Amino acid sequence: MRRLPVLTALLGMVAATSLAGLPGAAAAPAASAGKTQVVDVRTPTRADRERLQQLDLDLTEHGDADSLEVVLYGDADARRLRDAGFTWDVRIADLAEREAANRRADALYAAATAVSPLPSGRDSYRRLPDYDRELAELAAAYPALARGITLNHRSWEGRLVRGIEITKNVNARDGKPIFLMMGAHHAREWPSSEHTIEFAYDLLRNYGSDARTTRLVDATRTIIVPVVNPDGFNVSREARPGPAVQDFSALDFEMKRKNCRDAVNRCDQQTRLSGVDPNRNYGGLWGGPGASPNLLSDTYRGPGPFSEPEVENIRELVASRQVVSLITNHTYSNLILRPPGVLDYGFPLEEPQLAALGAQMASRNGYANIPGFGLYDTTGTTEDWSFWSAGGVGYTFEIGPSEFHPAYETGVVAEYLGLAPAAGAGKGGNRAAFYDMLEATAGTALHSVLTGSAPSGSTLSLYKTFETYTSPVCQDVFCSVVNPPLHFTDVLTSEMVTSGKTFSWHVNPSTRPATAGRFGRDPVAPAQATIPMFNDPTVVPEENVYYPSPAPRLTVPYETFDFTVNGPPAADNGRFTVHIEWADPANDWDLYVLDDTGAIVAQSAAFGDTTEDASLVDPPAGTYTAVIVNYDQVTRQLDDWSGEVRFASPTPTTIGPKEAWTFECRTGGTVVSRDVVVDRGQTLDLGNACKPAK
Ligand SMILES: [Zn+2]
Repeated sequence: MRRLPVLTALLGMVAATSLAGLPGAAAAPAASAGKTQVVDVRTPTRADRERLQQLDLDLTEHGDADSLEVVLYGDADARRLRDAGFTWDVRIADLAEREAANRRADALYAAATAVSPLPSGRDSYRRLPDYDRELAELAAAYPALARGITLNHRSWEGRLVRGIEITKNVNARDGKPIFLMMGAHHAREWPSSEHTIEFAYDLLRNYGSDARTTRLVDATRTIIVPVVNPDGFNVSREARPGPAVQDFSALDFEMKRKNCRDAVNRCDQQTRLSGVDPNRNYGGLWGGPGASPNLLSDTYRGPGPFSEPEVENIRELVASRQVVSLITNHTYSNLILRPPGVLDYGFPLEEPQLAALGAQMASRNGYANIPGFGLYDTTGTTEDWSFWSAGGVGYTFEIGPSEFHPAYETGVVAEYLGLAPAAGAGKGGNRAAFYDMLEATAGTALHSVLTGSAPSGSTLSLYKTFETYTSPVCQDVFCSVVNPPLHFTDVLTSEMVTSGKTFSWHVNPSTRPATAGRFGRDPVAPAQATIPMFNDPTVVPEENVYYPSPAPRLTVPYETFDFTVNGPPAADNGRFTVHIEWADPANDWDLYVLDDTGAIVAQSAAFGDTTEDASLVDPPAGTYTAVIVNYDQVTRQLDDWSGEVRFASPTPTTIGPKEAWTFECRTGGTVVSRDVVVDRGQTLDLGNACKPAK
């Protein structure tokens, strides 16, 4: 039976999950024997990546065209990977030793540094109380420019989640465009919080002396929330090596990713594996691929959309303000990610503008500017809701080339300022990228503006309510069984108070990106005709469970079929699909497609059915080779394949229905209400906005 070892491992995990989920159950043992390693797993195709995801290992966000980095917590994880047929290179052979070395480097750097070149002068990673104290100190030091905010919900362990809001005349309820930056959704990603709070220092300390900072702080309102997940961050940050009950436990805590939901004991007495992944718990697209239903997975999505107070905090912040842009900071991978997080969801109409702004920011930090699904599909992330439902443009930054919290000097100082060895060395670094984002926020191309006249002191409000749908909800890690999507009611409501005779209110477009349409392209020629695949009935290859591992593939046989993909003007193919089929689901043929350099560009290696379909989107013209592998003939009676190569046209841009804001003006004793439809990039003059309709 195909991939039985994997299934067995997963079933084992499910059993452990239900046990650990019971109140009072003992915490799961931290890990099996063996060192914690970071390894680079070869995953030449998207199908490989998806298969790797299904193993529910601790995937990092780091990968390239051919591989993904995974943290292996001991020998059991390595065995699971090996049993599933993966091969890998070791990147960090002993993560505990690496972390200890980083902390030694941090101690040396701090000892040798009086004031670092960071805006705050900080020379070592902050602890949780440092963030709360510094936010309060900044608000006190700059009362006209900054004020502290506290989000609506306490964390599971009862902590307040704090932030700071920065603009000229910060207490006015004006209509400036709002930029939100966040850190530490994920506990162990310490540099994400450091970058976030440093930007607050940058804006406040340079106001009045640096012309650009002054102009941007005057024109925009920046909201900084350095630590979205304080419980998890605290556990990770406070982990100390030493004689622990389990030798491994200190690093286990330090490598915690999730929050502290269901901390049966205290969170710091659990393991890394308790809690919910806050960046899989947002309601938009919740429950789909790239998030786990398994309680003990590092990407556990939680029991329902927005089940976590830390996530509901951000939802309510965004829903009650006109947040027109956001950056959510993470580590690591040197990436700038933009919606969509799921390939099949399609690109938003704003794709050209989002890609261009991403490229502008990437020119500062040297990161790759790619769609969120670029590494693998994810669902329930911040922008899956904030962008598609609330409308503000959003990016995820994956800071740094390696390690969740590397040495401070490289992971924070160099990445923030653009110093060697960061990829942004000499280009301005993340600091310059954040300024670019604030510049875009101050501009009007990426959001909408309502203007008009109203008596000074009028309260203007915008209101919208709608249903947001989750993904079809995966019932297992394979997502082989799905339940229908859930839906929930979203309410967006925001206010400003006018001063002077006219107003200008920077808002999100009235139509949600989720319904506005999808970006595509028009075909310039018909798609190519179907190509039947020839399969010589006299030639049947032996069973081959090794392909495409490099060495055995030279010796174990398989069949091939070459085909040519045409381009314009002869044909315009939005995708091709190599399709094969056979009779008995007990048998298994696998399928790979190689380009003319021999690289695998598509593959399909499912089991338990009678078809394989390998697709490539926007295939370049050229010659391709389908490789058909006889993986398993259980019936011992050859069940040969037949197939064809199918082509489809590109999908043109689609435009959906427009939606309206309900606009209201309250002035004196009168209330005036009307529907307002405003597009992204549009400035709409409402005229005398508070005049009652005749
Ligand atoms: Zn993260």
